[in-house]
Amino acid sequence: MKKKYFLDKNNNKYKTNINKIAKKNIINLIPYQSARLLDNSRFDHILLNANESPITPILKLTKNTFNRYPEPQPKRLIKNYSNYCGVNVANILVSRGADEGIELLIRTFCNYENDKILFFPPTYGMYQINAEILGIKYNAIKSLENWQLDLYTIKKNLDNVKIIYICNPNNPTGNLINENDIIELLEITQGKSIVVIDEAYIEFCVKYTIVHLIEKYSNLVILRTLSKAFSLAGLRCGFVLANEEIIHLLLKVIAPYPIPEPVADIAIQALNRKNLILMHNNVNKLINNKKLLVENLKKCHVVKNIFSSRTNYVLTKFFNSNYIFKALSKKGIIVRNQDHNIGLSNCLRISVGTNYETTRLISILQELSSY
Ligand SMILES: *Cc1c(COP(=O)(O)O)cnc(C)c1O
Repeated sequence: MKKKYFLDKNNNKYKTNINKIAKKNIINLIPYQSARLLDNSRFDHILLNANESPITPILKLTKNTFNRYPEPQPKRLIKNYSNYCGVNVANILVSRGADEGIELLIRTFCNYENDKILFFPPTYGMYQINAEILGIKYNAIKSLENWQLDLYTIKKNLDNVKIIYICNPNNPTGNLINENDIIELLEITQGKSIVVIDEAYIEFCVKYTIVHLIEKYSNLVILRTLSKAFSLAGLRCGFVLANEEIIHLLLKVIAPYPIPEPVADIAIQALNRKNLILMHNNVNKLINNKKLLVENLKKCHVVKNIFSSRTNYVLTKFFNSNYIFKALSKKGIIVRNQDHNIGLSNCLRISVGTNYETTRLISILQELSSY
C-alpha cells in the first residue's frame, strides 16, 4: 500500500503561521456562500437556492481530442452570441461565467490606492467580495425603500469611483431598475466611471435590456451568462458586452486560454437556432411556474409578503424565516436565506422550479401554516 503523508497541524516540524505570509484582506475575507458548497447535493433534494434552471437541455460534445490549446476567444461562439443578442462581434468578450467578468473589470480599471467601486445593496454579493479579494475600496449605497437607485446619495459619492455595478433585474429582490435612472448615471459619469449592468436574468424580461445603448455610451458594460435562462450553470460561460476599447483592455488582462474547448463546443450548440427556441420555451414555462408559485404562496399563512419578480426567483417575507428555512431543509427543500441581507430581514429567496417542486414546497408551507 502506498504510504500516505498527513499534515498534522499540531505535529508539524516546519510549523509556520501561514497567516503571517497570507494577505490580510484574504485572511479576513468572508467568502461567497456558494449554493453548491452546502451539504444539499443529495439527489432527492429539491434545490431552489441558486436560481438554476430545473430544465436540462441535452447537448453532446462533438470533439474528443484536446491536445491543443483552445482559441482564446472562440470565434463561432462569439458569432452565435452576436446573432442572439444583436451586438457586434467586436463588442463581445467570452468569460468563465459572468462572475469572471465582474472580477476582470475591477482588475482592469481599479488601482488599489484610491479607486473605488460602487454597488447598491441589497444586491448580488460578488461585487463586494471581488473588491475585498483585490483590496479595492468600495462604497455600498443602500437602495431606496422601493429598491430603486438612491441617485441623490450616489451623485454625492462619485469621487474616485471607477466602476458602478447595477444588477438589473436585481438579485435577490427581483425588481427592475428604472432605465431613466441608469441613463442619468451613464450621462453624469461619462469619462469618469464605467457603469456595469449585470443582466444575468434579462432573458426573463428581455425587453428591458439596454444592450442597444452600448453604441451610444462608451462607459456602458453589460454582463450576460448562460447559467440561468440557458440552463447551463455547470458550463461556466458568460459574456461581457461593451465598446471595442473596453473589450481590448479586458483582453489584455484575461487569462490566455480562458474558455476550455468543451465549454465552447457546448455553448455554440446552446446558441443555435433550434436551442434558442427551446430556451425561449423554457423561459416561458418558468414564468408560468412562477405564477403558480406566487398564487400558492399568497395562500400560506406563514407568508407575510411576496415581492413581485421579473426573474426566475421570488423573494418572500415570512413571519419567521429562520424557522421556515430549517423546516424546509429538514424536508429536503433548500432555498436561499436572505435574513442577514441589508433590508431583507425574514426574507427567503425561492428559485422557480418545476411544477412538481412548487407543489411539494407549497404543501410543506401549508402544513407549517396550519400549526
Ligand atoms: C448567477 C449570477 C451571476 C453569475 O453568473 P455566472 O455566469 O454563473 O458566473 C452573476 N450575476 C448575478 C446577478 C447572478 O445572479
